[in-house]
Amino acid sequence: MAEPLFRRLALIGVGLIGSSIARRARARGDLAGEIIACARTEATRARVRELDLADRVLEDPAQAVRGADGVILCTPVGTYGAIAEIIAPHLAAGAIVSDVGSTKQSVIRDVGPHIRPGVHFVPAHPLAGTEHSGPDAGFAELFEGRWTLLTPPDGADPGAVEKITEFWRRCGAMVETMEAGHHDRVLAIVSHLPHLIAFTICGTADDLADESRGQVLQFAASGFRDFTRIAASDPVMWRDIFLNNREALLEMLARFMEDAQAMARAVRWGDGGYIEDKVERGRKIRHSLIELNQA
Ligand code: NAP
Repeated sequence: MAEPLFRRLALIGVGLIGSSIARRARARGDLAGEIIACARTEATRARVRELDLADRVLEDPAQAVRGADGVILCTPVGTYGAIAEIIAPHLAAGAIVSDVGSTKQSVIRDVGPHIRPGVHFVPAHPLAGTEHSGPDAGFAELFEGRWTLLTPPDGADPGAVEKITEFWRRCGAMVETMEAGHHDRVLAIVSHLPHLIAFTICGTADDLADESRGQVLQFAASGFRDFTRIAASDPVMWRDIFLNNREALLEMLARFMEDAQAMARAVRWGDGGYIEDKVERGRKIRHSLIELNQA
């Protein structure tokens, strides 16, 4: 078996994503020689111990990163700045700090200033997840066949970028590098806007009169059910994503609302051709996803 990539890997946050990394590292043995898990609540720490996901489980992030050559932030992106400030003085020389956050410009903005010379910073985002959260929700195969996007800031150490690339490959992911602003725009359309629409449509249905709400739930099989699955995601995580990708999300939402208006117009004026054309485009996109193995 290959040498572990990291002698000691500290995972700050052990929910769906952090615990999936821990499980993968436990399953393979070539990711980390030792796993340190850091969680805020005693309930999560107790569960991480029960599941045997780490060699040591700690409350204090500063203590967790001591002596670690790899540190991955796996908490909601709104917590990153405060955590980076706490861990910064305790990071070992040569350590690589990475993360799994769903927004990337905000991560560079919030974490970057705390990284001192001699410590490497390689932000990452695995495009894999479910609507479930917490340490029980994770599984070792979560990243298998999915993309992980790296957004190294200007001047990032190539060796550190290569190590994080190899880390995600060993997690089963395909890896691509892109500029953080580009990442945020792409994710705004493929992930953040669909979630915004799902949360909104569930709220709209919930606002309807009691009687029809019952009907909505009773007959949810057609379309609405898929929105409710997306809308079941963690509120704090999504609050943080929306607030930390504000500009790109608002831009995509404005474009979406224009297109929705165009569709409304077609419905109002009986423009069947327009409607058929849009549905046909949607079908093609779905088929392309299936062909790319990302469905
Ligand atoms: P999660 O299951 O809700 O786990 C979050 C973890 O962060 C928990 O261990 C929690 O600790 C800890 N935490 C929360 N608030 C904290 C705070 N203020 N200080 C310290 N620790 C805190 O979340 P997740 O789904 O793994 O998401 C983690 C990160 O991955 C987020 O940045 C998210 O954007 C990103 N991401 C998520 C997905 C997805 O589909 N879920 C996909 C890709 C990337 P306690 O349990 O002790 O509260």
